[in-house]
Amino acid sequence: MARTKPTIPELKHLDHVLVSETAIRRRVSALAEQINRAYRGKDLTVIAVVNGALIFTADLLRQMRSPLRLDCIRASSYHAGTAATGKPVIIDNLKLDIAGQHLLLVDDILDTGNTLSAVKELLLAKKAASVRTCVLLDKKARRVVPFEAEYVGFEIPNEFVVGYGLDFNERYRNLPCIGVLKPKFYSGTV
Ligand code: 5GP
Ligand code: MG
Repeated sequence: MARTKPTIPELKHLDHVLVSETAIRRRVSALAEQINRAYRGKDLTVIAVVNGALIFTADLLRQMRSPLRLDCIRASSYHAGTAATGKPVIIDNLKLDIAGQHLLLVDDILDTGNTLSAVKELLLAKKAASVRTCVLLDKKARRVVPFEAEYVGFEIPNEFVVGYGLDFNERYRNLPCIGVLKPKFYSGTV
């Protein structure tokens, strides 16, 4: 008997979908393949920037073939809004010793570049052997600090997106696709 997926009421808050669930699934597989080829025969340490990268990292990891370890780092630059507040706060609570390790830094989105450049600097200061970056989304037009990721899922226009790990005021992370909210949900007037 065919099962229908449970519907998520908050999908109705989206004005439009930018990246569908199917497109994400296909692109994540392709990225994992690319990473598998690049790190064949090498031990790898994945560092996920949480909370945003949680879902992307989980899906990516399940398709990665190298022997790997996982750790998380917390960064925050948004405080209940959609505009970044300058320098990000990086909470370095890494449990693993990363000295001499090849690292893959995973985040949901590369926007101004402030977060990933600060995190990368911190990882290199701890003597990582190498640091490459993988992001699901890249808003190139918003860059303030020069930063390029080695692995990019999708380039997207300058719009504030939610879903697949990305939140607005901690909501919408569980949406299976990536989209833009209707204006009234950003203004918080409902
Ligand atoms: P950056 O430091 O590159 O400006 O911003 C990176 C962080 O800002 C991301 O990890 C993410 O948490 C947040 N961010 C940037 N753009 C968006 C967006 O469109 N939607 C959401 N939900 N978060 C974003
Ligand atoms: Mg983030």
